[in-house]
Parts: sequence; C-alpha cells; structure tokens
Amino acid sequence: MMEYQNLGKSGLKVSRLSFGSWLTFGSQIGDNVADKLLTYAYDNGVNFFDNAEVYAYGRSEEAMGKILKKKGWGRDTYIVSSKAYFGHVPEGAPTQTGLHRKHLVEACEAALQRLQLDYLDLYFCHRPDKETPIEETVWTLHNLVTQGKILYWGTSEWSAQEITEAHMVARQHHLIGPIVEQPQYNMLHRDKVEVEYSQLYKTVGLGITIWSPLASGVLTGKYSKGARQATRLTNPRNEWLKEAVLTEANIRKAEILGELAGDLGISMPQLAIAWCLKNDNVSTVILGASKLGQLKENMQAPAAVELLTDEVMKKIEKILDNKPVAPQF
Ligand code: NDP
Repeated sequence: MMEYQNLGKSGLKVSRLSFGSWLTFGSQIGDNVADKLLTYAYDNGVNFFDNAEVYAYGRSEEAMGKILKKKGWGRDTYIVSSKAYFGHVPEGAPTQTGLHRKHLVEACEAALQRLQLDYLDLYFCHRPDKETPIEETVWTLHNLVTQGKILYWGTSEWSAQEITEAHMVARQHHLIGPIVEQPQYNMLHRDKVEVEYSQLYKTVGLGITIWSPLASGVLTGKYSKGARQATRLTNPRNEWLKEAVLTEANIRKAEILGELAGDLGISMPQLAIAWCLKNDNVSTVILGASKLGQLKENMQAPAAVELLTDEVMKKIEKILDNKPVAPQF
C-alpha cells in the first residue's frame, strides 16, 4: 500500500514514491513506454509526476501532457510539477533563463501549454539565480500562486542560506514562501539532506522531493557486471554524467551493497530506495525508469524499509563510509 506524507508543513499529501521524466520522456524512451510507466505508477498509488522545462527541451512536458490528456485521470487525483531556470532551448537567451520575473512568468505559461494543464501543483526554481534579487523571485512566485497558475512553489539545489533568505523575504512582505526543496539524495550523495538542511526541517518545515535515488543507475549494481548496452550511463550523450557518478569506488560499493541486499532477500535497487525512504525528512523519493520492469521492481522498495534494522543500517554505514559530519562550533 502506498503511503502519503505531508509535503513539509504544507497540507499537500504526496505519495512517498513519485515518478520523474528526466532523460527518459521525450528522449531515451518512446511515448508508448512513457505511457506504460506513468500508468503503472498512477495505478499503484503514485500521485506526483515531476517534470521541468529543460527536460528534453520541452519534449518531456509535451509527452507527459499527451498522456495525461489521453488518460483523463481526475485533475484532483495527481500532482504535476515543472521547473524553471535553465530554459527550454539549448543555450537560451538571457531573457529565456534564470529566475527573473520575465522568465518565471513565461516559463510557467509555456509549461502549462506543453503539459496541457490549467495550473501546476508545484513550481520549482531549478537552481539559485545569483543575478536576480531574491525579492523579485519571491514576489513573482507569490503572484503566480494568487493568479492560480501554480499552487505551491519550491527550490532545487539551493543552499540552506538561500532557502532561509526566501523565507525571510516572504515573511517580511506577507507573501507565500517556498514549501519544498528538490535535492539529490542517495547512498553516495548525502551532505545537503543530512547536514546542511537539518535545521530547516524544523524551523521552516521544509519538505524534500529527492532525486536520483539510484545515482542514475549506479546503485542498481548493474555496472559492476560490466558496461551494458542502452543504459543511461553508456549513452555517449551522457558522458558528463558518467564521469561524475560511474567511478571505480562507486561501482565497488554498489557491488558490496548488492551482496547485503541479496542476504536480505531484496534487490540492490530496492535496498537503495528503501534506504532513502528510511529518512523521515524525505517527503517523497522521485523514481526514474526506462523500462516497466525497473519501475515494478523499484515500487516494491517500501516493503523493504522494515528490513533496515539498526544492525543493517550500521552495516550499510560501514560499507558506505561517507556519513556526513555537521561542522562543530
Ligand atoms: P535514478 O537515480 O533512480 O535513475 C533512474 C535510472 O536508473 C533509470 O532511468 C534507469 O536508467 C536506471 N534504473 C532504474 N531502476 C532500475 C532497475 N531496477 N534496474 C536497472 N536499472 C534501473 O533517478 P533519476 O536520476 O532518473 O531521477 C529521478 C527523477 O528526479 C528525474 O526523473 C527527475 O524528475 C528528478 N531529477 C531532478 C533533478 C533536479 O535538478 N531537480 C536532477 C535529476 C533528476 P537506464 O535503464 O537507462 O540505465
């Protein structure tokens, strides 16, 4: 049974597993496969679909929009996001990127058109924009909420200080502030979620929708068995990503963790996703998949959380050897 959790201190209930379209929809996979994945997720309790203007430069939103329209699911039964910052064309003009009022308003309108929706449930500032005053960004998002174009807004990969500044501006002017952050979080990438944001969960009631729970597939263990054809990290277009995550050390860790998963009677992807779910500050784990079998396997992860006893978590910690430490004052 899917569980639902309030997104931070907002009243919005999000499924603990959600589904995203980065590098897959409108790109690696055909619309037919995208349809099967989205439908399987929805039929099994996923209520949040994650997207962004920059994913396949708009084609990801178009693909998702077509499926949503075709399915005709009640608009009140699912949550859709978009994100603005990077733009919807390669190397966009200065007016087409960033978090200034012009781009946020135009990007929101364009996302709504591509998704064929009247409003976005969540709108993310995809990265911080150091060249736009935070007041301008917060005012614009507040106005988009009051205009009914978006329901909630959040940030992605902002520092704790930047998130706090957004809250300060919102409080000062009685505006609607951000409720959610979208950081990377997985067994190999932990600092922001476990240390940097640790106060924000309490002080501003931050919710988090975490991305790349499998480190783009490294944490499935499949790369330990040698490079495979037709995967994200063997695709020459993703060479930059391969260089960042497919290191010898990471491959080795995934291999050893895979043995532990085997002892527990679960698969390595299930162990990696259950480990993310074990962190109560994680509102939802955004899954990615290029094949239906992967999604079916990954969606069994919640059942594995109870296997992660203190003893098992200690074993995992020892293998990972990367527990982030809070700075001491
Ligand atoms: P993962 O780390 O889970 O990677 C997903 C990929 O891993 C799949 O597409 C597939 O790739 C492979 N995979 C998944 N399950 C299995 C399995 N059981 N067995 C074998 N291989 C598997 O998540 P993503 O990186 O896709 O991130 C999830 C979502 O997070 C994105 O769709 C997006 O919505 C969001 N995101 C947000 C970002 C941000 O900046 N805010 C940045 C990145 C993602 P393949 O088959 O090709 O190997």
